[in-house]
Amino acid sequence: MFGENSPLSIRLGFTNVFLTECDGGYLLVDTSYTDQYDHFKTELRSMGIDLHQIKYVLLTHHHDDHAGFVRPLIQEIGARLIVHENALPNLEKGVHYMDMLYLNTCTRVTLTLFSLIREHTYPGYSLKDDDIVIQGDEQALLKEIGVDGEILYTLGHTDDSITVLMSNGDAFVGDAAMNFLGFCRIRYRPIVYESLDDVYQSWERLIERGAITVYSSHGDAFDADKLSQILQRLDG
Ligand SMILES: [Zn+2]
Ligand SMILES: [Zn+2]
Repeated sequence: MFGENSPLSIRLGFTNVFLTECDGGYLLVDTSYTDQYDHFKTELRSMGIDLHQIKYVLLTHHHDDHAGFVRPLIQEIGARLIVHENALPNLEKGVHYMDMLYLNTCTRVTLTLFSLIREHTYPGYSLKDDDIVIQGDEQALLKEIGVDGEILYTLGHTDDSITVLMSNGDAFVGDAAMNFLGFCRIRYRPIVYESLDDVYQSWERLIERGAITVYSSHGDAFDADKLSQILQRLDG
């Protein structure tokens, strides 16, 4: 179902990153953990893509499993960063803001154990002059760089969470929805969040704006209908 016309994606540890064509090369959505950088370069080579073809790097939010190798990557190739303004304080310091709510006891236990082996820090990134900081939805920006899509501000997991929504309905949502840790019965919700109400509102906006297939950073792609079904149950 998500075969032939699937977007280019690379699974790096627990994180999926995505590539979509833009003027002069590719837009990369997210970087994984810092220690996945070499793995990323190897995978990219195997896809026949040169690192320097990446012209833009969009971070769905500042967490370490998304922004981990943004600094070494941009230092190496000089691509332009696209990020929400609320990401900047943490991104500059290279810290993963941890004051979040757990979805349930299962995600709390799992993540607490995981944090024993992960420090949740990464090389901090300071903006360059040509980087692009957005404040909310951005309907024109991607089209200006040759990407047939728009950016939606999909807060809830964090207050800097953004989604790339392509005109064909592919939605690169970062952690605004997940298909991960099935044993915790998360039902596509983020395993940690700042506001679950905002998560649900972001899902509604995604659906309203035409999302068809959800490409989460964690787990396999799934139909946006799944999110509609959950929202309907909440209403009922
Ligand atoms: Zn996150
Ligand atoms: Zn994540």
